Amino acid sequence: MSDSFKSISLVNAEGKSLGLSNEEVLSLRLNQWKGWKCSAGVENIFITADGNIYSATCRVGGWLGNVYDQGFKLPEKWLTCTKEWCMCGQDMQLRKVREESFLPLVHQEPPAANVNKMEDADAVMPFHFKSFQEFPKFVTWDLGRRCNFSCNYCNESISNNYEAHKSWGSLKHAAENILKSFVKGDKARWIFTGGEPTINPDFMKLVSYLSEGGHNLHTQTNGSRSPEYHRELIRHSSIGVSLHLKFMSEEKVLRLAEAIIDEQVNHKKASQYWFGVRVMVPPGHFDKALSIKKALQKVKGFDEFGHIFMSPLYANELDRVGQMVKYDEKEYEQIIENA
Ligand code: SF4
Ligand code: SF4
Repeated sequence: MSDSFKSISLVNAEGKSLGLSNEEVLSLRLNQWKGWKCSAGVENIFITADGNIYSATCRVGGWLGNVYDQGFKLPEKWLTCTKEWCMCGQDMQLRKVREESFLPLVHQEPPAANVNKMEDADAVMPFHFKSFQEFPKFVTWDLGRRCNFSCNYCNESISNNYEAHKSWGSLKHAAENILKSFVKGDKARWIFTGGEPTINPDFMKLVSYLSEGGHNLHTQTNGSRSPEYHRELIRHSSIGVSLHLKFMSEEKVLRLAEAIIDEQVNHKKASQYWFGVRVMVPPGHFDKALSIKKALQKVKGFDEFGHIFMSPLYANELDRVGQMVKYDEKEYEQIIENA
C-alpha cells in the first residue's frame, strides 16, 4: 500500500513504528484503546447538526457546549478513553498514549515505519506528522441535516429535506467561536459534512472565510451542485464526492470531475487540494460502478489529481444500523477489491 493511504502510526517505547491505513487498523482489530489517554477534545472536536460539541464522534467526555451559544470552554487535559472500540477514521488518527509516561513519544516525529506488525503499541499518532504539525487541530462539523437527495440507506437522524439552513450570521458566529475557544491561533483541518453541506446558500462564504485564514478544509458532498460551483470550491477545499447512483448520472459526475481537475491543472491553489469520488454501490450495481470508474479514469488529469473508490452500503433500518446490506459473495469481493 502506498504511503498516501496510511494515516496512523503505531509506535512503542522500543523505537518500533508501524504505519497503517484506517481500514487496516480496523481489519487487524488494533483500534482498542480503552483506558488510554487521548487528545480528543483538546486537539479535536466534533460538532453535530445542532451545533453541539463533543470531543470526537465517540462522544467520550460528554457534551462540551454549543457553537451557536455566546461561547464555550473546552477541556485542557487529555481524557481517558472509555470505549471498547474506536470506530471512526478521524478519531483513530488522534494522538493517544497507553499512559502519561509515554507522552514524549507523540511529541516528535515517529520513527520511519520499521516493523510489519505490532501488538504492543504504547502510542498512536498521525502518520503524516509534518502535516499534523502544520494543522494541529481538527474540527469535524455536521453543518445541518438538510439534503436534496433521499437515499434509502440514509438514516433520518442524518438527513431530511425540510430543515432550515443556518444563516451566514449563525455560521460566522459559530466559526469565530471555534477559532477563539478551540483553534486559539493555530491552524486547523476542518471537515464539513451533513446532510449536504453545499446546499446551504452561504457554504461558499464559510469556506472562503476559513481558507483565507490559512486553514485546511475538506468538504464531503453528494456532488449535486454544478461543475462551476465545484470549480470554485476546489480553490478553497478538498472535495470528497459520495456518489449515490440513484441520484447522480455518469454524465453528471464526469462533467464535475472535468471542471475540478481542469481547475487543479491550471491553478496552483486548487492543485494543492485533494479530490476523490467514492461510489456507493447497492447490491447488483457493481458493473455500473465499474463503468463509472473506467470513465472517470479517462478524464484528462485524473491520474494525477483524482481518486476513485467503491463502498458497500450499510442498512438504514433502526434495528440494523451499522450492518452491511446483503451482497452476493462475488459482488462483495469485487467492491472490496475496488475500495
Ligand atoms: S474512542 Fe477513540 S477518540 Fe474516543 S476517546 Fe477513545 S481513543 Fe479517543
Ligand atoms: S446524499 Fe448523503 S446525506 Fe443525503 S440522503 Fe444521501 S446519504 Fe443521506
